[in-house]
Amino acid sequence: MSIAPVSTVDLDDRFARELGEMALPWQAEPAPDPRLLVLNEPLAAELGLDPDWLRGPDGLRFLVGNLVPDGATPVAQAYAGHQCGGLVPRLGDGRALLLGEVASPDGQRRDLHLKGSGRTPFARGGDGLAAVGPMLREYVISEAMQALGVPTTRSLAVVATGRPVRRETVLPGAVLARVASSHLRVGSFQYAALTGDLDLLRRLADHAISRHHPAAADAPHRYLALFEAVVAAQASLVARWMLVGFVHGVMNTDNMTISGETIDYGPCAFLDAYDQATVFSSIDAGGRYAYGNQPLVAEWNLARLAETLLPLFADDEDRAVALAMEALERFREQYVAASLAGMRAKLGLPAGVEDAEATALADELLALLQANHVDYTSFFRGLGSAARGDAEPVRGLVLDLAAIDGWLQRWRALGPDAQAMDRVNPVYIPRNHLVEEALTAAVGGDLNPVRRLLEAVTAPFDERPGLERYAGPAPEDFGSYVTFCGT
Ligand code: AMP
Ligand code: MG
Repeated sequence: MSIAPVSTVDLDDRFARELGEMALPWQAEPAPDPRLLVLNEPLAAELGLDPDWLRGPDGLRFLVGNLVPDGATPVAQAYAGHQCGGLVPRLGDGRALLLGEVASPDGQRRDLHLKGSGRTPFARGGDGLAAVGPMLREYVISEAMQALGVPTTRSLAVVATGRPVRRETVLPGAVLARVASSHLRVGSFQYAALTGDLDLLRRLADHAISRHHPAAADAPHRYLALFEAVVAAQASLVARWMLVGFVHGVMNTDNMTISGETIDYGPCAFLDAYDQATVFSSIDAGGRYAYGNQPLVAEWNLARLAETLLPLFADDEDRAVALAMEALERFREQYVAASLAGMRAKLGLPAGVEDAEATALADELLALLQANHVDYTSFFRGLGSAARGDAEPVRGLVLDLAAIDGWLQRWRALGPDAQAMDRVNPVYIPRNHLVEEALTAAVGGDLNPVRRLLEAVTAPFDERPGLERYAGPAPEDFGSYVTFCGT
């Protein structure tokens, strides 16, 4: 047997070196019987990792944190966070570890991170573990988001640990290996600010600039430029969520990245029927994180980020606040612009159509979808057929035929481009009933449904024969869908 090329997995511990106050060196709990459930071979190749090695015994130990490459320093990261509006000063990775940064052959540096790797000193009352179902859920949904063109953390592998996890019942445990351009969160800045150590805050901001928003380094006000860049990235991200009908479900400040990637797929889910008030999470009875509230919550979270950065914006507090407000005001215009650009693409509108007309058309359509409880994804995909002359697929989804016919007539007169629409309106999304079906099978030992679902949602725009059941809404008897945090 050849010696495993462990030392070839080169993991940089830059976060721990530059921000030691926020990095607690820690080890994963031993997994008694690691078994690979799913491996993302294209992503492994992108990272320069050998899929065959990852599948082998040393690779599996690496993927659960039990084999640490030479020179790597796994750490639990400290962060704070507003959870459902209330500030928790010390959260941090309670069940996760940053293994280090991987430099891809293309020169990109990305975090390799484990979730479900055992208790850390940030675990509070938690057991530090994760169950197979929720980790596969994160894998499927994050990879679907990637394929839909939404910035996101990626999933490299899910490995069953052989360790049982106690939830309402006893479930099989798993570790998710995830990849992100970093794990810096709004909550990371809140943590640094709460220490009162201005030097730490400045180092964190400089670290974020160099990793994510390097253009800010040359700006006259580099920290303000960093904030502006995060505002822009989040405005664009949340617009994309809204355009694909994604509900994050737990937009706490610790679950919002500085990079502008979607992170922490807990109680998230996609809309079936279009409804601004949609909430899936069992703990979100008040609808704080409802589908239609997401832009407002993102803006609120960015205000919390601005507060942490005030001492870096200007010595004079009033001046710092004025600068922050001015930068934050851009969120709304950037969000509206990104969402209009996305809607124009979904409707296939030619460039000559005025923004005012496109906005009116989109608003009227969304009101119609809401009033008629229309399946969001099927409707927009069906609109491609309508652009080609067959309106029946969309007419069949709407009760108020007079209203939809009137709308279709106005829209078709603008000359929508059906081919362009098919490249932005997905056929396949990880629909709730399909995700549940696949995860239930996986927990029972059958991974085929997860594989088939992944096949559908990782090429979401290409309609393929044999995948018909992945394209439609849930059957009537599926009922209302509830998701859970802290899984
Ligand atoms: P999340 O809702 O996944 O964003 O997690 C919020 C916080 O709770 C983070 O600090 C997590 O590390 C922590 N956490 C969630 N689940 C567990 C668990 N089972 N054990 C320990 N900490 C957890
Ligand atoms: Mg989180």
